[in-house]
Amino acid sequence: MKNGMDLHLHLDGSLTPAYVIRQAKKQGIELPVWDEKELVKYMTAPVDCQDLNEYLEKFDLPCSVMQTEDGLTDAAQDVCKQMKERGLSYVEIRFAPQLHTKKGLTQRQVVDAVLRGLICDESFEARVILCCMRMKDNEKENLETIQLASEYLGKGVVAADLAGAEALFPTSSFGNVFQKAKEAGVPFTIHAGEADGPESIWTALGFGAQRIGHGVRCLEDEKLVEYLREKQIPLEVCPTSNFQTKAVKGEYPLKKMLEKGLCVTLNTDNTTVSGTTLEKEFDIAENQLGLTREEIMTLKKNAEKARF
Ligand SMILES: [Zn+2]
Repeated sequence: MKNGMDLHLHLDGSLTPAYVIRQAKKQGIELPVWDEKELVKYMTAPVDCQDLNEYLEKFDLPCSVMQTEDGLTDAAQDVCKQMKERGLSYVEIRFAPQLHTKKGLTQRQVVDAVLRGLICDESFEARVILCCMRMKDNEKENLETIQLASEYLGKGVVAADLAGAEALFPTSSFGNVFQKAKEAGVPFTIHAGEADGPESIWTALGFGAQRIGHGVRCLEDEKLVEYLREKQIPLEVCPTSNFQTKAVKGEYPLKKMLEKGLCVTLNTDNTTVSGTTLEKEFDIAENQLGLTREEIMTLKKNAEKARF
C-alpha cells in the first residue's frame, strides 16, 4: 500500500513462516511442521476465536524462536522487509522486551538486537514502541522497560505501550509504571477499550496516554467520545483483529467513529496472526464498512498526525 503507515503492529504477530523455519533450524528447535503453508496455520488465529486469550496463544510459536539476539535482529528485518515490499513508508513496530529473556538475554540486549534489524532508508522508516506487559508480579520488569524506553528515546524507540490480556489484568493496576514513563518524558499509548470497557480508556487517559490502542469500546460512553473528540486523541483501530477477538460484535463502528469526529487511524495489529495487511484493512473499510473516499483520506491524514 503506497505510502501507508501502520502505527499498531506487533513484531511477534507479524512474522513470516519462512522466518520461523529459518530460526528453528538454526537454533535446533522442533516445529510441528516444516512446510511454510502448513506452519502459517499455527501462526494465524481463526476468524472466529473464542476470545482475546485464544488469539494470544498464536504468539507462542514465533516467540519460541525470538529468544536469541540473532533471532530478534532477523525478526525485525523480516517484518521491515515485508512492510517495505508492500509499499508502506512508515511503521511503528512494537514488542515486549521481557518476553524475550527466556534464554538469558537481558531486556537491554533484546532492544539492541531488534534495533539492529530495523530498516530505514529514503523510502521506508521503521521505529519501535516498547511494550510493558499485563502479567502477574512483573512491575519490576515493566519499570525496566520504561527505563530502557527513556534511554533509547530518539535512538530508534519512539514510545512505550501496555499490552497483554486486558480483561485479566486491568489498566488501573499499572499506575506506577506509567507514572515513571511520565516522569521520564516517555510518550506512551495503552491498549484499552478492546477486551475491557470505556473505564480502561479513562484510566489510560488519566495516566497521560497520548494515544489509545484500539479504543473501539469508547462508543459505550458518550462523555468519553466527547473528550476524545475534543482532545483529538488518536485511536489505533484494527478491525480484523477486533473481529477475531470479539472485542466488537456485529457491525464494526469505524464509520460511526469518524462521523463523531474522532481521530481514528487504521492499522493491522498483527499481519500474520490476523492474516491481514494494511491494504486489506483499507479495502475492508471502503468496501465492507462503507467509508467514502474522503473518509479514507482522513484515516491516512490522521496517521500522519498521530505518529510518535
Ligand atoms: Zn495490539
